[in-house]
Amino acid sequence: MNIIMLGPPGAGKGTQAKMMVDKLGIPQISTGDMLREAVREGTDLGRKAKEYMDAGKLVPDEVVIGIVKERLGQPDCDKGFILDGFPRTIPQAEALDKVLEELGRGVEYVINVAVPNEELITRLTGRRTCKQCGAMYHVVFNPPRKEGVCDKCGGELYQRDDDKEETIRQRLRVYEEQTAPLIEYYRGKGVLFDIDGTGSIGEIFEKIAKVLGA
Ligand code: ADP
Ligand code: AMP
Repeated sequence: MNIIMLGPPGAGKGTQAKMMVDKLGIPQISTGDMLREAVREGTDLGRKAKEYMDAGKLVPDEVVIGIVKERLGQPDCDKGFILDGFPRTIPQAEALDKVLEELGRGVEYVINVAVPNEELITRLTGRRTCKQCGAMYHVVFNPPRKEGVCDKCGGELYQRDDDKEETIRQRLRVYEEQTAPLIEYYRGKGVLFDIDGTGSIGEIFEKIAKVLGA
């Protein structure tokens, strides 16, 4: 299954994608996670990306397209993948179509998760992420058993630099301007599925599983 998780920052794409990995046995490809990893490692790519990420802006298309192209060519993607946070612009979507066409594949499901802006801000300001395994928590909606510690691996939880209210608002503007047009792009291809992203994590997962017939 070739799946794209679409939706604004904070919609729950990563949370749902991680649950789908366990259910479907295909990898999650999160460009945000890959870029943060590059920042941590201090690579050239990481240094370049950090400026954009801290400012709540998108990293240039050619940079992100390059890393996704390489990732999709790896053998664990043979049975499918869950793209999370990519594509985010029309040129990225077009580049993805081209890469998949070359591999003799296509996008089958675009899960468009919709959540109102005020709820997104509440979710993102309370988000905590595990430094070690990347698991996501929320201080109120999905707290870890022990404050500051990941339930899954015992890693330390931290607040992302870009989860500050001012940067969140900038990221939401960027979403409206550059990413929201993808909804109609994929609707036109007949692969878009709208999901109401409000409600519990479990309820949303059930709705997505139903769409996927999983
Ligand atoms: P995205 O990957 O779309 O940016 P995340 O999956 O990281 O979003 O979720 C953002 C924050 O909202 C996290 O703190 C997560 O725990 C929380 N969250 C995710 N889904 C829900 C939900 N259905 N209800 C409440 N909070 C949620
Ligand atoms: P995310 O983890 O998906 O919220 O992404 C965090 C940040 O990484 C974004 O605000 C962008 O700066 C950058 N980023 C992630 N994915 C992309 C992408 N597909 N295109 C451009 N920038 C991206």
